[in-house]
Amino acid sequence: MPKMRFWRLFSACCLALAAGSSSAQVVPAPSNTMDAKVQGRVAAVSREHLQATNVTLVNFGSRHTLGSALPPEKRAGVVESRKWLTAQLDSIASDCKGCLEVKSYTFMDGPSPRIPQPVELVDVYAVQRGSEPEAGKRVIVICAHYDSIAMARMNDPEAPAPGANDDGSGSSLVLEAARVLSKEKFPATIVYAIFPGEEQGLFGSKGFAKMVKAEGWKVEAVLSNDIVGGDNTRNQQGLARIFSEGLPASATEPEMRKVRLLGAESDSASRQLARYIASEVAPYLPAGSVHPKLIFRQDRFLRGGDHSSFNEQGIAAVRITEFVENFDHQHQIPRTENGIEYGDLAKFEDFEYLAGVTRLNVAAAALLASSPAPPEKVQLLTKELVNSSTLRWTAAADGRAAGYEVLYRDTTAPMWEQVVSAGAVSQVTVPQSKDNVVFAVRAYDAQGHRSLPVYPEPVR
Ligand SMILES: [Zn+2]
Repeated sequence: MPKMRFWRLFSACCLALAAGSSSAQVVPAPSNTMDAKVQGRVAAVSREHLQATNVTLVNFGSRHTLGSALPPEKRAGVVESRKWLTAQLDSIASDCKGCLEVKSYTFMDGPSPRIPQPVELVDVYAVQRGSEPEAGKRVIVICAHYDSIAMARMNDPEAPAPGANDDGSGSSLVLEAARVLSKEKFPATIVYAIFPGEEQGLFGSKGFAKMVKAEGWKVEAVLSNDIVGGDNTRNQQGLARIFSEGLPASATEPEMRKVRLLGAESDSASRQLARYIASEVAPYLPAGSVHPKLIFRQDRFLRGGDHSSFNEQGIAAVRITEFVENFDHQHQIPRTENGIEYGDLAKFEDFEYLAGVTRLNVAAAALLASSPAPPEKVQLLTKELVNSSTLRWTAAADGRAAGYEVLYRDTTAPMWEQVVSAGAVSQVTVPQSKDNVVFAVRAYDAQGHRSLPVYPEPVR
C-alpha cells in the first residue's frame, strides 16, 4: 500500500503535457494540505460512546428479524433495538438543531428459506443534507445491519443471539459517525442507515437499495460495515479489510463484453472507491489506529453482505470488516463446550479497534462529502493509431472543480501510479500509449479535495 498521497507523485514534467491539448490555462493541482475539519471529526470519535451503544444493543437480547412478528409483550429485540437506535438518531438530530432528518422505510418481504412467513422489515436512516444545493444531490452512505441470528436455531427469534460484533459493532459505528459528522456541514449529503434482515438474505438493504434507485438518489459511495468489532482473541494487526467487486454485479452482457475487451476487470466504481480509501482517506488515520487493507474480491468465501445489495443496483459499495474473524464468536448460541466459549459477546470485542474503523468511515465520508463531483462523460479517444492518449470530459454541474488530474497505472499494477495535473481544462493528451496503461480522471477543488476517479469510456 503506498504511503504517499497521489499528488506527491506529481512532477513538474507533467505540467507541459496538458498545454498542447487545450488553450486553457494549465493550473497546478493544490498541494497536499490536510483538511482541518476532517481531522477534527476523526479526532472526535469516542471509543466510550461506541462501547456504550454496543453493550446496549446486546442487552436487547436476540435481534432476530422474525422477532417483529412476535406479540408486543415479548418486546422483541429487533423491534426494541430499532426504536432505541431511532431515538438516538432523533437525539443527535435535536443536538444539531435538526441537521438530520430521521426516517424509516417499512416493507414486507418473504417467504424465503429463512423467512417462513412474510415479515415486516424496517430500515432506519438519517439524512444529513449537503450545504450546497447542487452538491447536496450527491449522497454518501454509511451503513450496517442491526439484526442478529443464531444459526443452530436459524428461524427462531427467541434463540439467544447477542450479535455484539455481527453486527452490533457496525450499528454502533453508524450511530457514532452520525454523532461526530453532524457537528459540521458538508457540501454533499451523508446518509446513516441501519438495516434488518441481513441474516435472512440481505433483505433490509435490498429493499433500501431498490428504493434509493427508484427515487433517483445520486449515491456516489456506500460504506457497509459488518463485523468491525475487532475480535480480541485474534491479532487484527491494525487492519480493516475493504472488499470491493471487480466485475460489476449490475453489468449487462454487452457491458461485460466491453470489460473483457478493455481489460477493465479491476476498474469498477466500487474498486475506485476502495482505492480512494487507501490513498485519500488513510493519511487522516492516526498512526496506531486501524488502516485499510484492500481485498480485490467481492466478499469472503461462503459469505455475503449488504454492500452486494447496492452493487446489484449499480451503486459503488464496499464491505468493511475486521482483519481476522473468530467463527466461534459468530452466529453462535452462547455456551461453553470442551473448554471453548462460543457466542458473539461484547467481551470479545476490542472497542479501540472499533473506534479505528469508525475513524476510517468518518474520514472517508467527510472527504467524499467535501470533494467536488467527479467529472462526467469521461472519454478516451481511440479513433487514431497514435502512441499518445487523449482524454476528454465534461465538468459536473456543481461547479466546484478547480481543475482535473489524469491518473494512470501499469495494467499489472493494483494502485494508481502517476498523476498528471491537467488544470482547468476539459481535454488533455498524455504521452503514454492507451494500449499500455489504465487511465482515470478526477476533479479537485481549490482546497485540494479530490473526487472519486472516473474510468473513461473509449470512443472513436
Ligand atoms: Zn453481518
